[in-house]
Amino acid sequence: MKILVVEDDAGLAEILDHTLKQHHYQTEMATDGEAGWQCIELFEYDLVLLDLYLPKLDGISFCRKLRTSGYAVPVLLMTAEDALASKVTGLDAGADDYIIKPLDLDELLARMRALLRRGQVQTSPLITWGQVTLNPTSCEVLCQEKRLHLTGKEYALLELLLRHRHRIFSLNTLIDRLWSFEKMPSENAVRTHVKSLRRKLRQGGVEDMIETVYGLGYRLRPEPVAPSPEPVAPTKYASLERARSGAALAPQDPVVASLKTIWERHQSKYLDLIESLAQSVQLLQDKAFDPSTAIAQNQLELAAAQKVAHRLKGALGSFGFTTASQLAARIEQVLLVTPLPNGQHLQQLPSVIEQLRQALPGSTTVNSHRASQLRGSGIHQWLIIDNDIDFVDNLIHEASVWGVQPWVASTVHESKELLQQHNIDIVLLDINVTGVLSEGMALLLELTQLQPQLSVIVATDQDSLRERATALRAGAKSFLPKPVAAAQVLKTLIHHLGQTTLPAASILALDDDPQILECLDAILRPWGFQLTLVSDPLKFWDSLEQAPPDLMILDIEMPDFNGLEMCQVIRNDPALHQFPILFLSGHTEPDIVRRVFEVGADDYLSKPIIGPELVARILNRLERVRLLRTLAEVDQLTGLSQRHQSVKDFNRLLKLADRQQTTLCFALLDLDQFKAVNDYHGHDVGDQVLKTLGDYLRKTFRGEDVLARWGGEEFVVGLYGISKDVAVQRLTMLLQTFRQHGFLGDTKSLFHVSFSGGVAEYPQHGKDVQSLYRVADKALYKAKAAGRNQVLSS
Ligand code: GH3
Ligand code: MG
Ligand code: MG
Repeated sequence: MKILVVEDDAGLAEILDHTLKQHHYQTEMATDGEAGWQCIELFEYDLVLLDLYLPKLDGISFCRKLRTSGYAVPVLLMTAEDALASKVTGLDAGADDYIIKPLDLDELLARMRALLRRGQVQTSPLITWGQVTLNPTSCEVLCQEKRLHLTGKEYALLELLLRHRHRIFSLNTLIDRLWSFEKMPSENAVRTHVKSLRRKLRQGGVEDMIETVYGLGYRLRPEPVAPSPEPVAPTKYASLERARSGAALAPQDPVVASLKTIWERHQSKYLDLIESLAQSVQLLQDKAFDPSTAIAQNQLELAAAQKVAHRLKGALGSFGFTTASQLAARIEQVLLVTPLPNGQHLQQLPSVIEQLRQALPGSTTVNSHRASQLRGSGIHQWLIIDNDIDFVDNLIHEASVWGVQPWVASTVHESKELLQQHNIDIVLLDINVTGVLSEGMALLLELTQLQPQLSVIVATDQDSLRERATALRAGAKSFLPKPVAAAQVLKTLIHHLGQTTLPAASILALDDDPQILECLDAILRPWGFQLTLVSDPLKFWDSLEQAPPDLMILDIEMPDFNGLEMCQVIRNDPALHQFPILFLSGHTEPDIVRRVFEVGADDYLSKPIIGPELVARILNRLERVRLLRTLAEVDQLTGLSQRHQSVKDFNRLLKLADRQQTTLCFALLDLDQFKAVNDYHGHDVGDQVLKTLGDYLRKTFRGEDVLARWGGEEFVVGLYGISKDVAVQRLTMLLQTFRQHGFLGDTKSLFHVSFSGGVAEYPQHGKDVQSLYRVADKALYKAKAAGRNQVLSS
């Protein structure tokens, strides 16, 4: 589903963008009404999220214009104004619904889903087709009750087809609907997504759901009339199957298992805090009823109590004690009453504190909604080959903490089937799974030799030195002798995944609560992150300067120092301004969240810490940084370097040429009469020409040459170690090939394009990029003047 967001507040826009993407929506962002309108005219959207007050064209006029121009796209108006009049005006102008700011994101998503459902046949929030059920709330797809592991794009593709059952989608429409315009993929990439989606559906037991309409595109086939449920093969892992498919986990499901041990260690500290809170409240209460020492004179005591309540709210929730965290929040709220809480306010507290005490030991249910959103977020696919049912059961529970649902096989045959059906990255193998060691070893060898990308970890009770040596020689990554704790196995698995798929990103975290740091350590270290955890802001600054990390995690409230200020300081340091900063805080008040983004944070996560969510956000952030780096370096249309990057590369070659006492040529190419190509055949065809020249350049020149697009239709080539004459010769050969390339014009007739070029040579014509560019540009001008379609040197 593609959503246009028109919002001028940058912080809010980022929150919306982030949230919508997390729910697999495609977003296009516009910061004023006119920009939004341009998007409407260019692309098709499923929904518009529209701010009421906007520069250039306000929300109401936007809506009116939309409806009078005949656009039927649903509009959800966002307004900070709760006045009836403005809602009525909005709805009258053509909005379909409105939501009041500050936005409750869950409400927003629910309203969006409701609007997207509108006017469609199905009334249930679940969308079904035969045995396939898509749940837009949890973004899950079930196939014959089994969960399909779809990528975000595959999910979005399926949802689009399901929501428009009779429509044929051409590749171009799919690109338009599923990608934002700055990231348009090639048609082949789209085909690959369709293919992969089909394959996954087939593996889930659904054949032929998506039809190729030759020459036109794709559409959903008519729904099968009587879906016949296939009998599920009886398996002795019935309970595990259920667990894996995401159906109710056993009630004792310890989603917070790894945190439990930390809790046990620190329990007494938190209980002490609760007692001190109880005492403070008692004291304040006594004073409150004694007019001679009113609360106003005990503000320190009050502030201390507020702090404790705030800290309990964040920390207890992080351990999975949701109710306790909510109770602490209630206490905090009472203590924060303005101007000051009085005796009556305080009176209710002792009983809430008592409830808090009671809520602690028993309730370990984590916020399962948030955990389940991330369950199996498809990062990795694991296979356990083992027939020890208790061991496997423990592993599955432990794995759920990490948001992963492993596949399980108890025979060699089953394991081979699963390996064929799924993109498994990592295998945990008991080499004694069949009871015959040599069979297990043979399987191990087969896995490591036929699928070298797999990481295989062996866990077995056959623990002799010989077995160990044989297993490691056969390619196992680790050998774990049983009995081994599930947590240990998981750590080993994640550690290996970290090594194979993630560069070891370094993370620097600052929080004054040592327990929170310990939580972070337990959650993040197994993923292979290099962690530096500090509770002292000054130490934080030291390590920041010594070795800047890939990502920073900051707390807001710390003694003597404020995370927001720290963030501002970092953002103002030219060397550090682009490092990702993630805030972790107990504060959820909208204006604090806004402040967080204002001071330059990249992301914000509220305590309690939910392990899988934190990991997913961190991975997301790191991936984005990598993406931004490539975006900054590579021209998206041609795949060549951009000017900035190419200047850096060229300077490197200059130094090399200087050391090796050799020549380096700087060539400037410019397409001939390119404006006419655009004017005559349109910009899309023009872009195709630019892209094609990029392809020819890449094919013709070596990897170590500099190839770049310097904007518009101007290209730069750096040729190392050859003279200007050879460079002219080689570029002329390229020109001869290129101008024979037939482009399909708008009128369906073929046309050809040529270019002109100018070459300058180091060191003869200049010693830096600037002077070489000037000389090459003069030569280019000469070539144009001499009738174009040629390459000249100075
Ligand atoms: P000459 O042979 O003298 O170089 O003539 P020309 O028409 O190629 O040169 P001019 O500089 O007048 O026009 C360059 C054109 O390139 C104008 C602009 O619309 C087009 N152009 C620049 N960037 C892009 C782009 O990214 N895509 C497309 N399709 N056209 C572009
Ligand atoms: Mg030109
Ligand atoms: Mg030009």
